[in-house]
Amino acid sequence: MNARLPLPPSLYADTAVAPVATPPLDVDKSVSVAIIGGGYTGLSTALHLAEQGVEALVLEAQEPGWGASGNNGGHTNPGLKHDPDQIEADFGAELGRRMIDFAYGTTNFTHDLIRRYQIPCEARQNGTLRTAYNEANAAAIEATAKQCIRRGMPVTYLDREQLREMTGTDRYIGAMLDSRGGDLHPLSYARGLARAAISAGAKVHGETPALSLRRDGSRWRIETPRAVVHADKVLLATNGFTDDLWPALRRTIVPVFSSIAATAPLSDDVARSIMPTRPVLYESGHITVYYRIDQQNRLLMGGRGPMRWISAPDDVAYLMRYAERLWPQLKGVAWTHGWNSRLAITKDHYPHVHEPAESVLISLGCNGRGVALSTAMGAQLARRLIGGAGAEIDMPVTGIKPIPMHAFWPVGVTTAVIAGRVRDRLGL
Ligand SMILES: Cc1cc2nc3c(=O)[nH]c(=O)nc-3n(C[C@H](O)[C@H](O)[C@H](O)COP(=O)(O)OP(=O)(O)OC[C@H]3O[C@@H](n4cnc5c(N)ncnc54)[C@H](O)[C@@H]3O)c2cc1C
Repeated sequence: MNARLPLPPSLYADTAVAPVATPPLDVDKSVSVAIIGGGYTGLSTALHLAEQGVEALVLEAQEPGWGASGNNGGHTNPGLKHDPDQIEADFGAELGRRMIDFAYGTTNFTHDLIRRYQIPCEARQNGTLRTAYNEANAAAIEATAKQCIRRGMPVTYLDREQLREMTGTDRYIGAMLDSRGGDLHPLSYARGLARAAISAGAKVHGETPALSLRRDGSRWRIETPRAVVHADKVLLATNGFTDDLWPALRRTIVPVFSSIAATAPLSDDVARSIMPTRPVLYESGHITVYYRIDQQNRLLMGGRGPMRWISAPDDVAYLMRYAERLWPQLKGVAWTHGWNSRLAITKDHYPHVHEPAESVLISLGCNGRGVALSTAMGAQLARRLIGGAGAEIDMPVTGIKPIPMHAFWPVGVTTAVIAGRVRDRLGL
């Protein structure tokens, strides 16, 4: 990670607000907290530390938002991958309830933060739709909706007829609508978070990869290409780009590419015929497809794609074909961008927080739903790093457990994606 890599050729890179200056670190520093990774996790933690007057310094190998944070679908989705009942069964009533409150509160937290700092990132809260196109998934989603409603959440279950109106297609037979969901411009948001963190007093350095991390007496020593950082505490927030900085950490996640294709702005009529009320939507299926229409009427269609970097819509032609199958009125519309980035999947599909040594915290593995989760997690990580009363966080803090046979996982994931695509094509 030495030479600076350009941003992926995304719609966002072409349309984001200008970046704030984050010059490479070229003098040695001594700080309270060093944060490795300048995505939402690292930047939000830095902002929340700075708000409390704690000196925080972010080291980002490329530029803030270069990773998943500047290239994702832009959906702010409440909750975790698992159902509320499952979370309580896995972690017990007390921690389970705190995890549920936290995870389903992440979107309001994020949209409040955006308003508080007036971050210009096209944020809206028009709801998240989680849809099913077969009976088994519809039954599972209805059960999830009931669990949410039982806990007093603003969730409704929609049937085929209601979904036809909301999505302009008859593909879906059931869905859960959570009114707390929404969307934003991911790269503008990442840049806005960096700006807010810096204004609050944090230091953010781009083009500054952490090359090594080791104990130095009671502190930590981080080597970067031009300077050394000494820190009382360290947060690793490298998610799908996790390397060998901390032993075995790379083997606790499977880094997976997700891809997005974007159209040119659609006419008002076509955009309205697809999603008149502009929620965000993800499908519950063998491979997840997710989409939204942005504020310029572009359709952004996301899903699993090639497990390598891509640079054009043709690299994810199946997403375009799938969109045209859902809405034949799209035939002939121009697709202007195709890009991807890497996210981190964990074996249990929960986000992971580790504290593998005194004064070292690690947070990774948002499993494809990290826009709001990583933002809200930043506030919790900041509390934990400050310590004392209030250091308790609403996620389990677990040991580092490498995935057995990790080297074979990417092959397994690719096979599952391909199998899923074949089954989806057959309409199973
Ligand atoms: C295509 C795609 C679509 C997605 N869609 C959605 C969505 O719609 N909704 C949702 O909630 N989530 C979505 N996600 C997931 C979401 O983007 C991530 O969970 C979230 O951005 C993770 O933020 P992060 O800060 O933990 O990691 P990242 O944003 O990936 O940041 C990690 C950073 O660490 C840096 N780094 C790595 N190693 C080092 C080092 N040694 N030294 C210094 N820096 C280092 C990298 O350069 C990178 O910038 C999507 C992800 C992808 C890839």
